[in-house]
Amino acid sequence: CGIVGYIGKRDVAPLLLEGLQRLEYRGYDSAGVVITSPKATGLKMVKAKGRVRDLEAKVPARFKGTTGIAHTRWATHGAPSDENAHPHMSGDGLVAVVHNGIIDNASELRAKLTAEGIEFRSETDTEVLTHLIARSQLTELEDKVREALHLVEGTYGIAVVHADFPDRIVVARNGSPVVLGIGDKEMFVASDIAALITHTRQIVTLDDGEMATLKADDFRTYTTAGTRTANEPTTVDLEA
Ligand code: GLU
Repeated sequence: CGIVGYIGKRDVAPLLLEGLQRLEYRGYDSAGVVITSPKATGLKMVKAKGRVRDLEAKVPARFKGTTGIAHTRWATHGAPSDENAHPHMSGDGLVAVVHNGIIDNASELRAKLTAEGIEFRSETDTEVLTHLIARSQLTELEDKVREALHLVEGTYGIAVVHADFPDRIVVARNGSPVVLGIGDKEMFVASDIAALITHTRQIVTLDDGEMATLKADDFRTYTTAGTRTANEPTTVDLEA
């Protein structure tokens, strides 16, 4: 239902929780957040059924990072629960994904991945994306995500973090909105401009079939086929 992400220098958890709150008006049944930082050795995740304040209450005192993605869920596959809340993490803890939309061939992919020995932790359609990315043999995170996206059918706005690539967030859009917010040595991503407009008015709106890599001081956009696109920021003028 709602996505927000940040990469930069600031303490990321409060920023993401604030962003989620700005998406509350859309409605949701659970929420979650995963964070990391360039110096971190892995991802840290908290998820909760219920409101953003229920999530906030579960966030430990030491939950520090400068990169992260967060989600408010409107369940389509699997009941509202802590386990079914996004992000969805791979068994090795390296990959975490948040997703808006519906993967139509999820049950087929789940059966195939289960037959390969992969254990599922949730009932969501989204979790197949996590495992497809995690099992990719390709080297770059962007290529792992592209490979996974070629195997799924359906709609998505996604954001992905990987413990081995703590300098970036990879995002993609197909039928579910994704906007980038371009800051000064910091970058934002959201499913709705409302979540980032208090921080920057320099906005890039992804097209269907488009992906982006966000780094603290740089972003680039390209298609799911890997071709660079020239998607330039525009300045939006909105009442915050
Ligand atoms: N289909 C996904 C799920 O049920 C994502 C729902 C959403 O867009 O929030 O978990």
